[in-house]
Amino acid sequence: MSAPGRPLGEFELIERFFKRRGRTAAPATRPAGRAVALGIGDDCALLTPDAGMQLAISTDMLVEGRHFLPTVPPRRLGHKALAVNLSDLAACGAEPLGFTLALALPRADPAFLEPFAAGLFALADEHGVELIGGDTTAGPLNISVTVLGQVPAGGALLRRGARAGDDLWVSGQLGDARLALEVFRGNVALGAAEFEAARLAMECPQPRVALGRALRGLASAAIDLSDGLVGDLGHVLAASNVGAVIDADALPRSAVLAAQAPALQRQCVLAGGDDYELLFTAPPQHRAAVEAAGRLVGVAVTRFGRIDAAAGLQVHDAGGRAVEMDWRGFDHFAA
Ligand code: ADP
Ligand code: MG
Repeated sequence: MSAPGRPLGEFELIERFFKRRGRTAAPATRPAGRAVALGIGDDCALLTPDAGMQLAISTDMLVEGRHFLPTVPPRRLGHKALAVNLSDLAACGAEPLGFTLALALPRADPAFLEPFAAGLFALADEHGVELIGGDTTAGPLNISVTVLGQVPAGGALLRRGARAGDDLWVSGQLGDARLALEVFRGNVALGAAEFEAARLAMECPQPRVALGRALRGLASAAIDLSDGLVGDLGHVLAASNVGAVIDADALPRSAVLAAQAPALQRQCVLAGGDDYELLFTAPPQHRAAVEAAGRLVGVAVTRFGRIDAAAGLQVHDAGGRAVEMDWRGFDHFAA
C-alpha cells in the first residue's frame, strides 16, 4: 500500500493491481495457467503450448476518445480491453492461453485502477486466461492488450476460406452498441432501461470464444465484427475472392433496436461497429451442425445470406428489394 499523499510507484502499482500471487481461480475452460510456465516478474513470460498447436496472437489498443468515451466506468473498460482481444482469438477458433497489458496512465489513481483490474480479471477468469506481463508508463490513457492463444496446426478459422454457395451466419444481436453511441451523441433518445441495455452492449461486449472453437471444422471463414458488418464482411469477401447476397432484414437485433425507425435500425445493424459478434461462412450441409454448435455454447446463430461467385455485395430487404448502401466500415484515418 502506498502511504497517503505519496504517489504510487510503477512497481508498487504492478504488484498491487496486476500481479496476483498464488491465485487458484478455477476457470471454466482450462486449468488455471496450465500453459503459463512463468508469469509476471521476469524479463519475459514463458508459455508452453500443447503439442501440435500453433500460437495465435493478436493485439488491440483502446484510446480514450477514439475507442471509448470518458464516461465509461473503469470496471467496464477493464472488461472491454480484454474482451475485444479475446474476440479476435474467437474469430480464429483459438483457445486463449495468456495476455499482456501495456498501460499508459495520466496518474496512478487507485480509484481507477482497482475497478479497472477487477473488470479485467473477472473476464480473464471466465475464460481461464492469465495476465502474464506487460508494461506501465505515465502518459495519456492508452490500453493495449496482446492475447496469446493456441489452435490446432492448420485448423485456424481465417478470412480467406469462404466459397461460392456457403451460407453467411452471424452470432448474437447486432447494432445495440451503435444505438448507445447515437444516444451519447444526442442523436437518439431512449428510456432509462433501454439505454442501459444498449450501453451494456457497447461497454461490456461478450467475446464468442466458445462459439469460435465449436465452429472449427464447420465454418469455412470467420471474422469478428468490430468495424460494422458491411465493412467486415467486405474483408472476408476480398480475402476469399468472392461476393455475397445478404438480407438486411434477417440481421438479428434486440427488441430495443427493433423499436427504432427503420433507417436507424438498418444503419446500426449494417454499419454499427463495436458488435464483437462472429460473422462466419459454412457450407449448407453444415447447417444443422452450426445450429447445434450455437445451442451447445448458448449463443444464437442466424443465417442472413450466401456467398456468390460474382464479386461485390448485394444487400436486399425481406421483400427482395435492393437496399442502397454507401456506408463503409469504420476507418480510423478516413473518419
Ligand atoms: P522490463 O524493464 O524488464 O521490461 P518492467 O520493469 O517493465 O520490466 O516490468 C516488470 C515486470 O512486470 C515484467 O515481468 C512485466 O511483464 C510486468 N509488467 C509491467 N507492467 C505490467 C502491467 N501493466 N501488467 C502486467 N504486468 C506488467
Ligand atoms: Mg518493460
